[in-house]
Amino acid sequence: MDLRLYDTLSREKRSFVPLDPQNVRMYVCGPTVYDYAHIGNARPVIVFDVLFRLLRHVYGERHVTYVRNITDVDDKINERATRDFPGMPLNEAIRKVTEQTEKQFHEDVDALGCLRPTVEPRATEHIPEMREIIERLLQRGFAYVAEHHVLFSPEAMNAANSILPRYGALANRSLDEMIAGARVDIAPYKREATDFVLWKPSKPGEPSWPSPGGIKVEGRPGWHVECSAMAWKHLGEQFDIHGGGIDLVFPHHENELAQSCCAFHESVMANFWMHNGFLQVEGDKMSKSEGNFVTIRDLLADWPGEVLRLTMLKTHYRSPIDWTLKSVEESAKTLDDWYLVASDAESEQPAPSVVELLADDLNTPHTIAVLHGLRNGAASGTERDRSQFAASLRLLGFLSESAAEWQQQKQQASGVDAERVDKLIAVRTAARARKDFKESDRIRDELAAMGVVLKDSKEGTTWEIAR
Ligand code: AMP
Ligand code: ZN
Repeated sequence: MDLRLYDTLSREKRSFVPLDPQNVRMYVCGPTVYDYAHIGNARPVIVFDVLFRLLRHVYGERHVTYVRNITDVDDKINERATRDFPGMPLNEAIRKVTEQTEKQFHEDVDALGCLRPTVEPRATEHIPEMREIIERLLQRGFAYVAEHHVLFSPEAMNAANSILPRYGALANRSLDEMIAGARVDIAPYKREATDFVLWKPSKPGEPSWPSPGGIKVEGRPGWHVECSAMAWKHLGEQFDIHGGGIDLVFPHHENELAQSCCAFHESVMANFWMHNGFLQVEGDKMSKSEGNFVTIRDLLADWPGEVLRLTMLKTHYRSPIDWTLKSVEESAKTLDDWYLVASDAESEQPAPSVVELLADDLNTPHTIAVLHGLRNGAASGTERDRSQFAASLRLLGFLSESAAEWQQQKQQASGVDAERVDKLIAVRTAARARKDFKESDRIRDELAAMGVVLKDSKEGTTWEIAR
């Protein structure tokens, strides 16, 4: 099967050939753990979960290694720790913030139907690897020490005239453009505006480790080198796919690529660089001051995670997405219907058309259109049609619950007693069967008073919460 993926670096859709089909390797930049993740953060998690599932389907479950890191050293974490745990020693407070946030993140993305990655490395557990990369960069003349900092020099990289990629190739910008566009308040210890931090001194009380480069004071790593180190440790000097949101292309991924290629003397860090488009909410950029800042947690209070997952996948991962209540409501209806048709079906093989569309750079919108067709076939067709429909849904991470669990989730999200609703619906169905429409209307009204709206179809009656 031809798996084709869009690569940001070469700016084309190319056939995916793994370096080692026995161990297909993918790295995705994970969360900085200081607060609840918002629905924009959910996008890369869901998109790369679909890719992970597809790779497992194609190469076998045991032949894919998916690494998603946890950034647990960051100024925002320090600020949050000081604010939430005043009086506590900073390092202890930081551990509390990061542990708590990591737990919340896992609960949220589990609920969105995402498989756990194979490895979830924490930045603070990879300081020796970061120091090793920095020492190599210093030795090879790509980095220098200034005022207790270590800085990477993109100019030195581009002057090296070797197999190295050009700094700026990923972001598709020239170094001259970047220098011209650099901010005016450039740190005095930088030789050039485009030099970036590999290591910096820690302030008193902040987390700190012995520094590389013979620097006498303790310090902490820059953000970019963390990912180079974790990817190296868990996936090697080169691997297949590196992913994240489009905002990470520059500077984060450009810098990771530069550090890794220069440290390991390689022309390539990852064969494919994949980036999801940005998410906005109800037509606007998400922001706390606009009041349209939505956490995954907020949404999970109202909707099952699979509803949010489907809403995300209706848009192709590289396009921008406008997150709207209307779209979420439609997804909820669709999933109610899919659960009714397929939740009790045995899974066999997913439909070939579904696999082919996913293999075409994760064409999920087209896949979902095909699923609607498969649904109709499953509702009126054979048990095999139903099992193929169910397997197709499961490949995408849907239908992970039984019909009963699905109803229960709706109950939890709405506060409505789903068992009672189901009983009343059964009584109403019996009334309708004996043509007692007075009784069936009465039950419909009783449910309406509970905030429950019924929808009758050939396959039966589904319900949803009136909004
Ligand atoms: P952060 O914690 O801000 O570093 O973001 C974690 C991941 O979420 C990164 O891959 C970001 O690119 C991605 N991300 C953040 N905001 C959005 C958004 N509004 N839309 C899509 N992806 C986002
Ligand atoms: Zn990263």
